[in-house]
Amino acid sequence: MPKRPAINTSPLQRKLKRVTSVPRGSMPIVFSSGAALRPLKTSESVARNIIHDIVENDLPSGTSLPSEAVMLKKYAVSRESLREGLRLLEVQGLISLRRGPGGGPIVGTVDPANLGRISTLYYHLVGATYAELIDAWAIAEGMLAELAARNPDRDRVRAAMAPYIVEQPHLHDESKADFVQSHSDFHFVMGALADNRVLQLSLSAIGEIITHHVILNADPRDARIIIETDHRAIAKAVAAGHALKARELTQQHMYSVSDFYKGEIGPKMDDFVEWR
Ligand SMILES: [Zn+2]
Repeated sequence: MPKRPAINTSPLQRKLKRVTSVPRGSMPIVFSSGAALRPLKTSESVARNIIHDIVENDLPSGTSLPSEAVMLKKYAVSRESLREGLRLLEVQGLISLRRGPGGGPIVGTVDPANLGRISTLYYHLVGATYAELIDAWAIAEGMLAELAARNPDRDRVRAAMAPYIVEQPHLHDESKADFVQSHSDFHFVMGALADNRVLQLSLSAIGEIITHHVILNADPRDARIIIETDHRAIAKAVAAGHALKARELTQQHMYSVSDFYKGEIGPKMDDFVEWR
């Protein structure tokens, strides 16, 4: 009997096989059903064309888009499809709709929080927990820090990191919202230095979910010392181009910040990620 060739499987492939193998006859919940190949509905095509026109004309956030009458003519679709298309974009924050006289669609912003929010529907359905979300956050932010440190435009990197290297005065009356904002600004600035918009958006979306689901339930000002000391060390590593150190420090930072929140939110860590 001929000997069967040895199947060369890596530990990761074996792990994936375990995760994705399901009993005969049932479908795994995470499954590519070819949805990416489905033709777009009319409302989705309109949405795509509107976004295309915003990009083509380089329209900044806050710019008014043409009236419904003009759009109906331009895109040659029914009023129902146009409104559905606009609604699709509104849900993603990519446009906003001002109601009433003088209203109409205006160009919105690309906020990773909206990408994060839609992702949470998927995470919830597969039963992903907050603990998994935090692991993903540490890995994602670590990758962004590493890429930022590797950015060849060293002057830009040093200039962007400079404000985070100097010790900030302690503002006793700083509101929680301001503190959360300045903390996430650091991660936003670092993410932008990765110079890869796909990674920046996709990976920042994870951090946005944490901000909205976990951080808003706690008071991160209590972790001020940890946060500011960590940010200074990370900013120094990024500015000096120490990529692996930047990644490691950032991952440690995400875990120490999340340990702080674990104390705040306790057993919720094993709950499924909610859609919010
Ligand atoms: Zn931080």
